[in-house]
Amino acid sequence: MANPVRLAIVGLGKIARDRHIPAISANEAIKLAAIADPNASIEGIPHFSTLDELLAAAPDIDAVALCTPPQVRSGLAAAALKAGKHVLLEKPPGATVSELTPLIAATKRTGRTLFATWHSRFAPAVEPARAFLAGRRIKSVVVTWKEDVRVWHPGQAWIWEPGGFGVFDPGINALSIVTQILPRPFFVKQAELSFPQNRAAPIAADLVFSDDEGVPILAEFDFRQTGPQTWDIDVETDAGRLMLSYGGSRLAHDGRMLVDEKKSEYSGIYRRFVELIATGQSDVDLAPLQHVADAFMLGRRRDVEPFEV
Ligand code: NAP
Repeated sequence: MANPVRLAIVGLGKIARDRHIPAISANEAIKLAAIADPNASIEGIPHFSTLDELLAAAPDIDAVALCTPPQVRSGLAAAALKAGKHVLLEKPPGATVSELTPLIAATKRTGRTLFATWHSRFAPAVEPARAFLAGRRIKSVVVTWKEDVRVWHPGQAWIWEPGGFGVFDPGINALSIVTQILPRPFFVKQAELSFPQNRAAPIAADLVFSDDEGVPILAEFDFRQTGPQTWDIDVETDAGRLMLSYGGSRLAHDGRMLVDEKKSEYSGIYRRFVELIATGQSDVDLAPLQHVADAFMLGRRRDVEPFEV
């Protein structure tokens, strides 16, 4: 087997610890070789406070996984590509759509891999849902994505800042699935974004999308859900009702369960990253990010009561 990809994690926070490190540990083709984070470290792994320090001191790194908040992601990606490293971007790939353009150009110049990951697309029922819907007539889609910000983002101030996405941080996961499984492109028609009076990012969003044949695609995102969490995509088709639930781990057709599997999204992400590097390719799909940008452009703002984290 070829030498493993020597990877540095940049931003050792919740997602890096919960998902990236276990997936890397389970993949022989990739080896965690360094960490860059202002404070956090792992015993036995070389640690640097910043990516610049890491790049200066550890030239034997092949690739970086950028697991920071989105606001700083594109600057870090530019520095890593300039230093000749392959780059894995956590979702969302940036805080704006256009900041990805120079990064894509840099991959062409350097021949390095840029992988804008959408972890929800690697959930086990997503590909079966895409295959089922290919060639079907879609009548309507209802997306319900409601989760508890205090559980998934404990104490994270960045999520409420400009570029932090607020409820679009989870909502973009739903959009990453819907853009993957629906056979036709769609676009935002209406958006109502609820901003807590003390926050710069929305806590809830009601969205209406459509395709060019007028098929309604409704999405309701809410960050205030306590108790059971809801991550459902309900698609009415000419061949019955397809229900994708639990964030893409369950799929039912007219009530009959087709897929019910534990999620292993990040192992799929790292297998794909290794494959992209080995074949000299990049994978950057900005459709989910574009939908969020469009929702902000078109959105009507509604002030709601202050929210304390
Ligand atoms: P987090 O717990 O706040 O972790 C972010 C880490 O990045 C922190 O340790 C932070 O350090 C560090 N950091 C900030 N700026 C940095 C920089 N310039 N260089 C190096 N490190 C830097 O956030 P998270 O929940 O892991 O989320 C990170 C990303 O993963 C987000 O884009 C999120 O959408 C995505 N994600 C999160 C989840 C989830 O369930 N939480 C799930 C899937 C994807 P300080 O705290 O010291 O600033």
